[in-house]
Amino acid sequence: MEKKSSQLISTKYIFVTGGVASSLGKGIISASLAKLLQARGYSVTIQKLDPYINIDPGTLNPYEHGECFVTNDGAETDLDLGHYERFLNIPTSQANNVTTGRIYQTVIDRERRGDFLGATVQVIPHITDEIKRRIKLLGQTNKYEFVITEIGGTVGDIESLPYIEAVRQMRWEMGTDCLVVHLTLVPYLAAAGELKTKPTQHSVKTLLEQGVQPDIIVCRTEKHLSEGMRNKIALFCNVNPTAVIESIDADSIYEVPLLMLDEKLDVEVLEKVKMPKDRLPDLQRWEEFLERLKNPTGEITIGLIGKYVELKDAYKSINEAIVHAGAANRCKVKVRSIHSESVTDENIDILHGLDGLLVAPGFGHRGIEGKITAIKYARENNVPFLGICLGMQCAVIEFGRNVLHLKGAHSTEMNPDTPHPVIDLMEDQKEVSNKGGTMRLGSYPCKVQKGTKVFDAYQLENVEERHRHRFEFNNKYLAKYTDAGLLPVGMNIKNNLVEIVELKGHPWFVGIQFHPEYKSTVAEPHPLFVDFIKAARVYSEAMLSVIES
Ligand code: GLN
Repeated sequence: MEKKSSQLISTKYIFVTGGVASSLGKGIISASLAKLLQARGYSVTIQKLDPYINIDPGTLNPYEHGECFVTNDGAETDLDLGHYERFLNIPTSQANNVTTGRIYQTVIDRERRGDFLGATVQVIPHITDEIKRRIKLLGQTNKYEFVITEIGGTVGDIESLPYIEAVRQMRWEMGTDCLVVHLTLVPYLAAAGELKTKPTQHSVKTLLEQGVQPDIIVCRTEKHLSEGMRNKIALFCNVNPTAVIESIDADSIYEVPLLMLDEKLDVEVLEKVKMPKDRLPDLQRWEEFLERLKNPTGEITIGLIGKYVELKDAYKSINEAIVHAGAANRCKVKVRSIHSESVTDENIDILHGLDGLLVAPGFGHRGIEGKITAIKYARENNVPFLGICLGMQCAVIEFGRNVLHLKGAHSTEMNPDTPHPVIDLMEDQKEVSNKGGTMRLGSYPCKVQKGTKVFDAYQLENVEERHRHRFEFNNKYLAKYTDAGLLPVGMNIKNNLVEIVELKGHPWFVGIQFHPEYKSTVAEPHPLFVDFIKAARVYSEAMLSVIES
């Protein structure tokens, strides 16, 4: 929720740091706290500060850092921004994700321009000032009562030091307008049969050595914290027992806001920053979503075909969009990850029993033939299919080769010398030699043709969707494809680019050049995912009745 008014909003800054170990779920805790504040009617945004030197995660291999999340304004960002959007249903932007690389680049550019008037440029104050400026930028938009800033990494890392120092300074300067939530781990030692608070004590000590006393300690744990445990953590870490919040393992990340509500995380925050807490959180829609998620009336299995399937986070937004769409259909969706390199004509059996095939986005040659083989199977066997970005391009290649008999049809990304470049760069992109400059990133309009399955899903003619790719459908082949039944049902009118293809006569076969997964949220599951899951359910029920009869 954004607030626009002529009155100046006084913004409260909440920092979320992490200790003991990485991957404790700072992003989910930040998003859950934001959700609770939003549910009480406050305007909230969340920002992620990443301590690595890359300018953005756009160049990072998904194996390194999971999925790269793309915002409306075309920023390539950390996947935690996806959680923020899915929880809050508000778009983020470049300002919501800052890396050390970007901070240093700004400071060094200013040094070259002579902005520092001959001073020695140092981590303190120049780097820390730039960090503080980036944090306050969101507050200065006058749209938010709360800016929650998640500090990536773990307290004690060398890379995190300037960020913690910036937090220390802001605390000192802003008093109760600032608050620090520290997320730690309380491990359970099976041999001793006990939860252990020592790692939490140590990580708070590390924070204290850097001049920051956390106000609230959120403890990740497998078992409930006893009253005694809470008192012990409170005593050793200088906080009230009510400021020790248990974050017990949950079946679904979407349960965490409710767990935090039970633990009164929002109340503790509001009291500390002296904000009214009389409006109670309205989480009705959230609870309805959870109710649908937990009480499915059917079950299907979707095959996710990609080349980064070993890593859970590589297709984060796709997996979450499937969860949203499953809940919308009251259908439990199992996702079977299939490595694209493992799909061949000889072992096509691995696709048997799947109720829908989703072919994932990607870059480069590896696994491409497996994707094409899987799409041929979906097309010929009437299995519902959703192809995203490279998945759509593979659908075009498959149709070109096997239906239009364009021998050797390919994308020029994979084979620059293909006789049939059905997927190619646009003319003006070919002149740019630096690959980074040619990516189509961020939100673009798409006109959806009425009377199609895609229109049935959207119920809208004009949509905006996010892109992250270089190559496009080659319009030289458009007439051939249309005549044979792979229809361009979504177009970017301005640039005459094919955005969506749909196969005539197939129960549900859709390829999309953009990434719908980035826009799917709990409040608004993406219509294309919703209808894909719906079609897969219909297929599954039809298959069951064939088996039964
Ligand atoms: N590699 C393809 C392109 O650049 C597809 C990109 C993607 O799937 N995101 O066009």
